[in-house]
Amino acid sequence: MNVPLLDLKAQYTTIKDEIVDAVSGVLESQRCIGGPKVAELEEKVAAVSNCKFAVGVSSGTDAILNSLMSLDIGSGDEVITTPFTFFATVGCIARAGAKPVFVDIDPETFNIKAELIESAVTERTKAVLPVHLFGQMADMNPIMEVANKYNLAVIEDAAQSITSTYKNRKAGSIGTVGCFSFFPSKNLGCAGDGGMIVTNDEDLHDRLKIMRNHGAHPKYYHKYVGGNFRLDPIQAAVLLVKLRHLDSWSQARRSNAAFYDEKFAGTVVKTPYINPDCVSVYNQYVIRVLKRDELITHLQDKGIGCAIYYPVPMHMQECFGYLGHKMGDFPEAEKAAKEVLAIPIYPELTDEMKAHVCEVILSFCS
Ligand SMILES: *Cc1c(COP(=O)(O)O)cnc(C)c1O
Repeated sequence: MNVPLLDLKAQYTTIKDEIVDAVSGVLESQRCIGGPKVAELEEKVAAVSNCKFAVGVSSGTDAILNSLMSLDIGSGDEVITTPFTFFATVGCIARAGAKPVFVDIDPETFNIKAELIESAVTERTKAVLPVHLFGQMADMNPIMEVANKYNLAVIEDAAQSITSTYKNRKAGSIGTVGCFSFFPSKNLGCAGDGGMIVTNDEDLHDRLKIMRNHGAHPKYYHKYVGGNFRLDPIQAAVLLVKLRHLDSWSQARRSNAAFYDEKFAGTVVKTPYINPDCVSVYNQYVIRVLKRDELITHLQDKGIGCAIYYPVPMHMQECFGYLGHKMGDFPEAEKAAKEVLAIPIYPELTDEMKAHVCEVILSFCS
C-alpha cells in the first residue's frame, strides 16, 4: 500500500464542485484584482483568528516581509528568531535589511525557547519573530513579557498554524501581527500562492494595506516604497470554500495524531510533545528517531511518504555565512535537524493507511 506524505487530490475530490463554482464566479465577474472575494476572506480570517483586521497578501513570505516593512524594520535593526524554521522567516528579515539574531529552540516543542530571548536583546533589537512550528504555537506569554519589557514588536510566523491556540488565544492574535501562508501544502492551502496578515492595530492595518500596493496612497502618490503583495481573488474564492471545512480537517488531523501517539507509545519513536496550553492543528506530525536517514530509505522502499522539516538550521545556511555562526552555536536546533521526520497526517488518511504507516515504522525500529 502506498501512502503519500500529502494527497491534495483526495481533498479536492471532496470539494470539487464548490471550488469550480467559486473560481468560475470570479472569472465571470472579471474582477481579477482585489474586490469582494478578497474583502470577504479578510473578514472571515480575521474572525476565525479573533483579530480586528486582516490583509490578504500574495504569500506567507510576503506576509512576513510586508509586516517588517510596515513596522519600519530595516537597516541597523535586529530581529530575534529561531534557527529551526522554513527559510522565509529569516530570509525576510535579511531582505528587509535587518540582522537575524538566533536563539535556540526548546527540544520538546521545536519552537523558540522563550527563556533565551532576553539574553539576545540589544539596543538594536526591534522585534521578536517566533514561529509556530508544525501547527503548535510558541510559548507566547514569556515572549510577550520580554517584548513588552523592551518595547519590541512581535511578528508571529503562523504560516503552519492558522486557528491553532495557546491558552485559548488564536495564532496571530497575541503579537503585533500574525502571518499566515496559504501555500497548497499548508493546513489551509489555496490553488497557488497566497497569504494573510492579521492584527488588532488599526494604524498598522492601514499601513499594511498601503504597503501591499506599492506604498501608494492615494494611487500614484507613493507614501512608502512598498511592493506588489496582493492576494488574487481566485485564490480568495478557493480559500472561502476551504475555510468552511477547516475545523473538520483540523479535527481529522488531531485524530490521526492521536492514533499515531497511541501506536508509538512506549516505543523508540518519539512522538510530538504538545504543550498542555496549546491545541495543535498538526500541519505536520513530526517524529524523532536516531537512525532517521535509514528509516527514510526504509519508508521510501515501502512507498510511504515522509520529509525532513528542516535538514539545515538557518545559522548553517550558506547565504547567512556573513552572520559568522558555526556548528555548535545552537545545539538543539542542530540535533533536531538530524533527527526529525514528518510522516503522513493529512485529514483524508484512512485507518488502514495509518496502521500501515505505524507497522512499517515499528518493523524498522525493532
Ligand atoms: C510556508 C512557510 C512560510 C512561507 O509561506 P509561503 O506562502 O510559502 O511564502 C513562512 N514560514 C513558515 C514557517 C512556513 O512554513
